[in-house]
Parts: sequence; C-alpha cells; structure tokens
Amino acid sequence: MKPEALLHSRPEGLYCPPGNFFIDPVRPVERALITHAHADHARAGHAAVLATRETLDIMRLRYGGDFTKSKQVAELGERIDLGGVAVSFYPAGHVLGSAQIAVEAKGLRIVASGDYKRHPDATCAPFEPVTCDVFITEATFGLPVFVHPDPESEARRLAESLRQFPERAHIVGAYSLGKAQRLISLMRSVGHDAPILIHGALAKISRYYQGRGIKLGKLEPATVEGIAGTRGAGQIIVAPPSVLGDRWTRRFADPLSVFASGWMRIRQRARQRGVELPLILSDHGDWNELTRTIRETGASEVWVTHGREEAIVRWCAINGIAARPLHLVGYEDEAE
Ligand SMILES: [Zn+2]
Repeated sequence: MKPEALLHSRPEGLYCPPGNFFIDPVRPVERALITHAHADHARAGHAAVLATRETLDIMRLRYGGDFTKSKQVAELGERIDLGGVAVSFYPAGHVLGSAQIAVEAKGLRIVASGDYKRHPDATCAPFEPVTCDVFITEATFGLPVFVHPDPESEARRLAESLRQFPERAHIVGAYSLGKAQRLISLMRSVGHDAPILIHGALAKISRYYQGRGIKLGKLEPATVEGIAGTRGAGQIIVAPPSVLGDRWTRRFADPLSVFASGWMRIRQRARQRGVELPLILSDHGDWNELTRTIRETGASEVWVTHGREEAIVRWCAINGIAARPLHLVGYEDEAE
C-alpha cells in the first residue's frame, strides 16, 4: 500500500480514504479525528468527533455541548478500527489532552503528530515517540536558529522581575489554552506561591486543568477591586496576548508587559508588541526537538504540515529520509 492511499491532503485537511475520516479538518466533515483542542485544529460542526477525553471536554467548554452530533473518546494506546484501518492515540506533550494519531493498515503505519514538543511540561502527558513508516510533523520552529531555552530559567526571569519591580503589575500575555496554565505551573515550580490573577478568558480552561489534577495553586480573577494606583502591584496577571498594550491593562499599577511565546526568540517581535520582558516559552518543538523526534520514529519518510518546511525537508534529505511539504492550509502558528 502506498502511503498516499492511506492518508493524503484534501482542502478539508488530511484524509484517510479506506477509513473515511479526516485528521484536524479545517472545514466541517462527517468524521473528524482531532489531535488537540487549539482552535485551528479543533473546529466545531463535524458530524462525528473522535479525540481524547480532555480534547472533547475542552471543545465542549469552548463551543458548547452541540459542537458535534457524535462524540467518541479515544483512550491513549487503544486500537480503534475504522473501516479496516487501525487508529490509536499517543501523547504529544503539547497541551492537556494533545495526542498524535497513528493510522495503520496492511502493515503500513503513518503517525500524524499534530503539534508537539519534547521540553518538560507538568501540565500534560509527555510526548511518546511512536515507530512508524511515515511521520507527519509540524515545523513551526523548523529552523536551526530556534533552540528554546530551559523553561524554568525563563520562569525565574519573571520571578526576578517581580522582586526588582514590586510596585509594578506584571501582565503576562499567554495563549489561553495550554500556555497560560503551563506558565502558572512553572511559576509554582520556581517557588512563586502568591495568588496569580487571571483574565476572565482563561478562567474556564484553567479550572478544567485543575479539575484534571493539574496543580496551579491559588488563582484569583483579575477584577477591578482594590485601590487603582496599587492594583496588581508585584503580582502576576495572566491574560490572553491580545490584551497587551490594550486599555484593559491600564487598570493595574504601572503595568509591565510580559509575553510568553516561542516567538520571543525574535527580539523584533517583542519590540513590535511593546513587550518589556519577553519570555521564550514554546509549546512547539524547536529545531533539536523536531530533528531528534524524526530520528526516534525511525520513519523512512517525513511529511511536513505547516511552519518553516524547507529546512526540515532539506535536513531529512541530507540524512537519507524522503521528505516533502504537505502544504496544508488553515493552521496558524502566530498564536503560539
Ligand atoms: Zn496547537
């Protein structure tokens, strides 16, 4: 069986003809297998959705109970038969509930990894390499220049800033699913025990993480109580990145703008957004993680979904691995 007969790209997304399903389709389809709940991968309106328990729960929190007609939970490692195709989910280490999806038929195994990382993250299960013939990888940070620093050292930089500027409110822009909770968890791991204030947009998902046993410590709503001039002074306030530089931040004492993102590796991006303290914290693999992972899967062929495909494709060629870009549309990496 040719790999393309088992999975190939269509305008809706990656399609498996024998199993008649799509992986992370960007348009409504009959049957969708979803790797994780980020909005560009998990859309509402599919007739049937197969995903991990957490991904289904987060989709419900975001889209409401009627986001699909039929839901099926995929347990990690379980083999599910779809029209003679065996599918199984394995942890991807990206956000809570994130999974790679292995698709197997007639002795051929393709793994669609969705988004993934290998750096430690206490808020989700760690990535598990799965041996396969074809490995489908993202390439958000697929350039050798991207080497992410140790996450705890980035958290310590924020703790240090709080000590240095106790009169200023530290507003941390972080994507509301995954990054925000990981940042909070990291601050706890470096000894920051004080309550952390959170923007309303983060409340439901953070509560859900806590309900799944992820320790985030004491979280309080970032409301307008307290005296205007000192509100949030010396405190961490976590909010969606869109509020940075926005009027919303002016309710706090002399707001200091922090942004937690893999893109903060690029100084110009931090400057453009007026970020005073850029923290390099990524939920996507850096160059070393991507290349190490490709090796560990033992795949003889690699398909690259989105990001900076060229360098990864070239690296594969040099290392004797057949590779090509898939040119899938509809996936974003800005939100990272
Ligand atoms: Zn994602």
